[in-house]
Amino acid sequence: MPCPLVVAATGFALFVPLDGAGVDLPVGSVVRATPMQCARGIGVEVQASHDTYGAAAPIGARGCVAAEAVRPADSDTRFLKDGAVVGPEGACDAPSRPIPPATLAGLTRVRDTYAELFGPLRLDELDWTDWGYVALPLRALGAAAIEAEWAREGLSTPSRREKAVVAAGPAYLHFLGADAPGSDIWATPATIEHVLRLAHAWSTRCGTPDCMLQLGDLAWYNARTPDPLGHRDHNEGTCVDIRLFRTDGGHYEAWWNRPDDRTGAHAYDRARTTEFLAFAMANAPVSEVLFNDPAVIAAVPGVRAVKGHDDHVHMCFGAKATQP
Ligand SMILES: [Zn+2]
Repeated sequence: MPCPLVVAATGFALFVPLDGAGVDLPVGSVVRATPMQCARGIGVEVQASHDTYGAAAPIGARGCVAAEAVRPADSDTRFLKDGAVVGPEGACDAPSRPIPPATLAGLTRVRDTYAELFGPLRLDELDWTDWGYVALPLRALGAAAIEAEWAREGLSTPSRREKAVVAAGPAYLHFLGADAPGSDIWATPATIEHVLRLAHAWSTRCGTPDCMLQLGDLAWYNARTPDPLGHRDHNEGTCVDIRLFRTDGGHYEAWWNRPDDRTGAHAYDRARTTEFLAFAMANAPVSEVLFNDPAVIAAVPGVRAVKGHDDHVHMCFGAKATQP
């Protein structure tokens, strides 16, 4: 059997069981066929794995895997290895990860857009999923930075700390909420490009710290429904949730219709939120904006009210999204 075999996506499962090894194989792992007694499936040994979906499979782990879960790398399959793109012949003996040609093209577009706007970026500094989604480029904050944020923002309880900013991009921040780390930062390459261009343009127009975009959920790793993040229309990878701007420059949620749960004071910046949405409508291919403040809806054509959008803006790009 040729080397390598790749663990291929079947449906939306992120992992396939490696029977007898007590571990799961992330889709996109690289394995080599190995002689084993298997009640079903075929024996494989892990050659390379990755932690995009959670834990990587240990290199050298051996077990049995369903025959339909692996396929030989064909000549079109490319692998990212140490940041370089190689063919199957170069993927067998070192850490590498298969990437389909269309996903490689999308990843490259995102890299080029980032480089145009913010400076050089290597392909392997971006992450992607085996369903063709690309991660919003982010650097995770360290524990010390997050503890400093807890102190600065007065995040004194677990439910408030869950709302902390956990990562930063060049012109935006990312807050996590209740989702598993890394599970909510995915979108189509085109959507990531739109977000990067909008964030760059907005930061050029309004570069003060209280203009910083705070981005929450994009999409899950793939288009699975129901969306494990709990949204009705994020699964297509074209939407992002954005916090309301605040008058105090803080990094925390604001509500248009209720005070801050820490201070009891209102810190929602209606003027800046209105300005940003009008700017986005004029400067990005925005297909949908959901937000419930009637004053903003009156001021910015295209904004619609839908239940659940009092503390964030839901913004989609590209073709018109489905009605929620
Ligand atoms: Zn949303």
